[in-house]
Order: sequence, then C-alpha cells, then structure tokens
Amino acid sequence: PSEFRGKHITVAGLGVSGVPAAKVLHGLGAHVTVVNDGDDERARAQAAELEQLGVTVRLGDGATLPEGTDLIVTAPGWKPDKPLFAAAERAGVPVWGDVELAWRLRRPDSAPWLAVTGTNGKTTTVQMLASILEAAGLRTAAVGNIGVSLLDAVLGEEEYDVLAVELSSYQLHWAPSLRAHSAVVLNLAPDHLDWHGSLQAYAADKGRIYEGNRVACVYNVADKATEDLVREADVEEGCRAVGFTLGTPGPSQLGVVEGILVDRAFVEDRYRSAQELAEVSDVNPPAPHNVANALAAAALARAFGVPATAVRDGLRAFTPDAHRIAHVADVDGVAYVDDSKATNTHAAEASLAAYEPVVWIAGGLAKGATFDELVAGAAKRLRGAVLIGRDRALIREALARHAPEVPVVDLDRTDTGAMLQAVQEARRLARPGDTVLLAPACASMDMFANYNRRGEAFAQAVRELGA
Ligand code: ADP
Repeated sequence: PSEFRGKHITVAGLGVSGVPAAKVLHGLGAHVTVVNDGDDERARAQAAELEQLGVTVRLGDGATLPEGTDLIVTAPGWKPDKPLFAAAERAGVPVWGDVELAWRLRRPDSAPWLAVTGTNGKTTTVQMLASILEAAGLRTAAVGNIGVSLLDAVLGEEEYDVLAVELSSYQLHWAPSLRAHSAVVLNLAPDHLDWHGSLQAYAADKGRIYEGNRVACVYNVADKATEDLVREADVEEGCRAVGFTLGTPGPSQLGVVEGILVDRAFVEDRYRSAQELAEVSDVNPPAPHNVANALAAAALARAFGVPATAVRDGLRAFTPDAHRIAHVADVDGVAYVDDSKATNTHAAEASLAAYEPVVWIAGGLAKGATFDELVAGAAKRLRGAVLIGRDRALIREALARHAPEVPVVDLDRTDTGAMLQAVQEARRLARPGDTVLLAPACASMDMFANYNRRGEAFAQAVRELGA
C-alpha cells in the first residue's frame, strides 16, 4: 500500500505536469483535487478527462486551499508568493513540485540522476550527456523539458541505468529532498527574477541541485557564482568539486588544450595527469559556449565512470535541437543562423560572440531585462541590427548608447509577417562573408506562439530569399 493511499492531495495547476501528477496520485489511491487559476477551453477539456477518472477539479480558483489537504503538488511555474502557498504554510501543509513527486515515487533500485541546471544550455547539455552515456552502452534517457517526462522515466516500463535530467530553477525550488549522483550549474545570469524575487533567491534555488550529491559537483570556472554554490552545498562525504573551463584545466578540472578537450579530474591512468577526451571539432556546433556545454556533459559522464572514447563518440553522434544556433542556409555568400532559442540576453551574448561580422535580428518581450551590457560587448562585431517586437525600443536605445555607428533598422511592427521584412532588411545590411543571426535576446510571445514558431518564420523567410 502506498503512502499516498487515502491522503487528500491538492494538485496546483493543470497542464503538462499537473494532469499526469493527478492521474498517478489518483492511481495510488489518493483523493486528488486539482485547482487551476484559468477556466479556458483547454482547461475544461483536461478537467473533463480527469473528472471521468474520479478526480475533483476546481477551475478558476487556484487561490483557496481545499479543506483537509495533506499535501500540495504544484506545477513548477506557480510563483512561491501565491496565496495558496501562504495558506499552506499557515496550515503546515508541505508543498512538492513535479520533480519532488518523481523523486519520492521512484523505485528504490531506480537509476541515479545526473542533473543539469543553469540559465542557458540545459537542454543541449542534457542531450549531449545522454548521447555520451548511450555511446558508453548505458541505458539512459534525456529527461525534462524535452524527451521523456520525469514521471515516465521513474515509473514507466523502460529500465534505465542512469538518467540525464534537466532541471529548471522553478523545479529546484520545489524539490527539497532531491539527491543527485552528480550535478552541474552551467552558468548563472539574471533570468526569471520576477518569479524568484531576487538574484539571490534564484541562485539559491539553482544551488539546490548540488545538495546531497554523491560523486561530483560540477561548476563553471568562468562563472564564480557557480563555484560559490558548490562551496555552500551540503554534500556526501567524498563528493568532489570539479570545474570546467574553456582554458587550460587545473587539477580537478576539464578544459581545452590546443583544440583538445582534456580531463584532469577523472584520470584512469595513475601515471598520467590528464586524459584526452575529444577534439573541439567533435562538438556540434563548435561555438565556445557549446564547447563549454560539452565539457560539462563530459564531466558528469566521467563522474559516472564513462570512458574517454564514449565521450568522443557521444559528442560526434550528437546533433543539436532546432533553433539553437542552427545554420539555415547561405544566400549570396551570407550565412543565416537561427538561434531563436536565445530568449534572454545571456544566451544572445553567447551566440553573438561566435560570429563576426554579424547582422543581428533581435527583439520581442524583454521580461524586465536591460541590454546595455549585451550591446556594449557585441558592438565591435555588429555590421548592423534589425529590430522587431514589442520591446525593441530598449535595444534601440542601448545600441544608440554603445554602438552609435552601427546601422539600425527599427521595424515598427509585431505581426508575424514582420520576420520576412526583417530578413530582407538584414540581407541589405549584410556583405559576403557576414552572418545574419536571429538571436532575439527576448521571449517570442508578442509575435509568435513560441520560439519554435519564431525560428520557423525566420527559416521560411530565408528560403524565400534564396528562391
Ligand atoms: P536551456 O535549456 O537552458 O534553455 P538550450 O540548450 O535550449 O538551453 O539553449 C538555449 C540558448 O542558450 C541557445 O540557443 C544558445 O543561444 C544559448 N546557450 C546555450 N548554451 C549556452 C551556454 N553555455 N552559455 C550561454 N548561452 C548558451
């Protein structure tokens, strides 16, 4: 009999995490009530499906704590300052997120987790890691945002030796008892501060990923905040701090020496101080930030005992997901690159750094960001900029301050068709040998359903240029 039988559990939020959580808990014999703020068509369809099973659903009321609740299982996106959680605190009711639920439900002999978080590069790193683990002959899956869902990974039929798990700061916030085998915080830049309340709170939530690690806490040598989080974490005895760097690695670090990825943390041969893993050209694409992702993935795989050859084979077998620095086409000697997934300034900074000269297409929803640092850093490499979307004035003003000589085309439109015009304007600014880069540094929802749609619109526009 499960510990959930007969318990009154409130699931906060329908959607991708709430619906499966409600089903699983109902299946375990709990009395489940789902509360949901919204009351739209999609919510009603999901509610109808759950009600058929015998789950209670309250639409349009996500604030009131149902009487007799023993536990809340929340969708990760729900802000901690919601009235529901204040009510839970007053009543002494614990709150778990989807990750905490999966962690608690996992079978005792289930696969250990290699966990990845960071402001940018999570999905890519988790996929690289899964590719490396597969190359080592391990049964594994990339779990999280894309790929297999966490609940399926821990409860499904499929058996795994190890899981490569992507975790957002929201998920970590609600996952107090998670204990990974090894984990990495790839980088820390301001993002989602409206949710977490402050940069400190955001960092603290990310830092939870290191709590209780058994083998290695992997940090970014170039990002001291990640190393600080390792130092503050309470880990198992013998757990090591392992750094990754694009420079020459120190002891207990992975890094790059003359175009070779080198491991100085997990060396099998005791007569040697370093182990060669792969070449930079094995990383796809070999842009600096992506090499950093590969080093982080390699560090976690090596912490799990994977041989060097599997790192190389896994990196070679990896192809990045769509809209992440994807080369779309060359037209008249100009390369067109889609990094629609660069939805914040830190991500856009990384891809802008990889191209020169570059015509930059940017804009959208700024989510409270400022653009001075990004623009100042990229100014020297910019051939020109084309701005779209609702908050483009913020970028235009930053360009005027830090790159006054760079030609800027400000497209005063937020309709979907604007992308075609943006690409045409970019073509006019570009010269042979240049790159036209879509790296919006903003979210897409003012113009598109999501970043995928934005990237597709860009690729379509480029194809029309070539036609
Ligand atoms: P996430 O899952 O964290 O959103 P992705 O792997 O999907 O990360 O990459 C998102 C975007 O972030 C990429 O399109 C790229 O612009 C940028 N990016 C990827 N890796 C890094 C990194 N290590 N540092 C900075 N930016 C990165």
